[in-house]
Amino acid sequence: MKKTPFKAESKRMLELMINSIYSHREIFLRELISNASDAIDKIYYKALTDQNLVFDQDNYYIKVAADKDTRTLTVLDTGIGMSKDELENNLGVIAQSGSLTFKRDNEAKDGHDIIGQFGVGFYSAFMVADEVTVISRALGSETAFKWESSGVDGYTIAADQKDAVGTEIILKIKASTEDENYDDYLDEYRLRSMIKKYSDFIRYPIKMDVTKHRPKEDSEGEFEEYREEQTINSMVPIWRKNKNELTDEDYENFYMEKHYGFDKPIKHIHISVDGAVSYNAILYIPEKTPFDYYTKEYEKGLELYSNGVLIMSKSPDLLPDYYSFVKGMVDSEDLSLNISREILQQDKQLQLIAKNIKSKITSQLQRLLKDDREKYEAFYKSFGTQLKYGVYSDYGSNKDVLQDLLMFYSSKEKKMVTLDEYVSRMPEEQKYIYYAAGDTYERIEKLPQTELVIDKGYEILYLIEDIDEFAIKMLMTHKEKEFKSVSSGDLGIEVDESQEQTEQEAHENQAMFDEMKKILADKVKDVRISKRLKNHPVCLTADGDLTIEMEKVLKAMPNNQNVKAEKVLEININHDVFQSLRAAFEHDKEKLILYTNLLYNQALLIEGLPIHDPVDFTNDICKIMV
Ligand code: ADP
Repeated sequence: MKKTPFKAESKRMLELMINSIYSHREIFLRELISNASDAIDKIYYKALTDQNLVFDQDNYYIKVAADKDTRTLTVLDTGIGMSKDELENNLGVIAQSGSLTFKRDNEAKDGHDIIGQFGVGFYSAFMVADEVTVISRALGSETAFKWESSGVDGYTIAADQKDAVGTEIILKIKASTEDENYDDYLDEYRLRSMIKKYSDFIRYPIKMDVTKHRPKEDSEGEFEEYREEQTINSMVPIWRKNKNELTDEDYENFYMEKHYGFDKPIKHIHISVDGAVSYNAILYIPEKTPFDYYTKEYEKGLELYSNGVLIMSKSPDLLPDYYSFVKGMVDSEDLSLNISREILQQDKQLQLIAKNIKSKITSQLQRLLKDDREKYEAFYKSFGTQLKYGVYSDYGSNKDVLQDLLMFYSSKEKKMVTLDEYVSRMPEEQKYIYYAAGDTYERIEKLPQTELVIDKGYEILYLIEDIDEFAIKMLMTHKEKEFKSVSSGDLGIEVDESQEQTEQEAHENQAMFDEMKKILADKVKDVRISKRLKNHPVCLTADGDLTIEMEKVLKAMPNNQNVKAEKVLEININHDVFQSLRAAFEHDKEKLILYTNLLYNQALLIEGLPIHDPVDFTNDICKIMV
């Protein structure tokens, strides 16, 4: 029979599978059993709305059978089955082709990354089998079809016979090699333990014929072997189990089995509530940011079950946006089975559950921060940005929940610190929580604006993400301490010279500053004596609420409103350059223009802002060189 080639992407995925050096080949069984269980679920849901279909629990099961002689392993289910078209479309094309494209762009060399990050479903069978046969009869059909493939060169589909509706997947297990003992996958004990480990909580019985012994009739002390069908899995869903009976590994396996993610979750939260509303939930805080997390494509949500039956695979109403990274499920017997999405949204019970879940996540994150700093920082690295967006959005209505979870890099500690930690270290006379914004820590470190604050020995929080300053502005205060940008007008720091002296100096230099302002025209709002500079001659700061960093961020947005910070050019009158500036003002107006433009452009460069005319700027430098 002529083989149909796989679609290009699927073929590539298959190649990866077959040549995979992935060390957890045994997960193929979990994948096949999950698919089988999904297929039975589908009949179950159909029966909920279809009067003609009766779901009799006893008729639905999964069976695993190994045959050492033929080297075959069979996974059979009584699920909904697949039609010819479905066989073609579901098995001929890899489901997660999007993720494959993504990985290719990221240069995955072997299959390891892909399996590790996305899971691969049905195709994982090719990690252990030379040949895979799928015989399936769809619900409502009298005939069955057989799909067969021995790898990358394609597959065949032909009409076939099958007594009952459902699917049978037959794997021709590879011959063992030096590196891999494939015989394991034909071994009864090994298979049983794999099922126990990965699929114990599957809702339907996973049956297997197991070897047993009984006393031999008519002979004393002798035993004979016999085979008996047994259900291997406990079938009690993990969320109904007692927390004390479960190990970290159980939770991790459930996470994997459910495809919540393919990383190792940082934390699981198991909630059992009996009260105004009763529910069980298992939530996970993933470790890694899903590749599409910060895009529009990412959908938040938890699986929602009504008394053990899945009613929605991603219920977004259960999670606030700022916790959209949380994965997991909720099961409540107080929810109706046939409830529609729209009604569900307004459901009082659901709202109560959502509220409860939200506070549980918050308290667990706080606890993680307190008890396991390293893990928390790993979490924050992945999802901290989301928390900061959470502070900023909805007009700051969630800031109280979130501000204790925030972290920023500290100039003093040279690591991430919380706002509480910052405030607890503040010397008595320090009025504000200081922060500086910039592209990188290294650049902020060198910002002239930080000089006075650093000189005072105060700690500065370095903000390097676009959202940071917006979030800080939304917070306004922490523990009653106001936030203050190091480049804002009044730093609240008493300088050593008496206030009067500066005022007098300002007065003396007013004429020159006015002149400079005129030269810079609408580029700056003001030219002033700096109270914050120590070693640098100039810097730019901003009056008002909008800082220069925020201007930069807003400018980069697609619908930018061209808002501008009110820039102020600050001059350090203790710097030698200042004397040259005075001399120019008094004797040489051309030079004052030259110096003013140079200083302004320097200040722009230090801020990381583009200079309007680089050619003019370099010409100006040449002028002072010759
Ligand atoms: P995924 O399960 O992630 O969708 P798979 O590659 O494992 O990806 O399976 C592809 C599709 O094939 C499934 O979505 C399902 O529609 C179908 N399928 C796989 N196994 C079975 C089965 N045992 N019974 C019915 N349909 C199945």
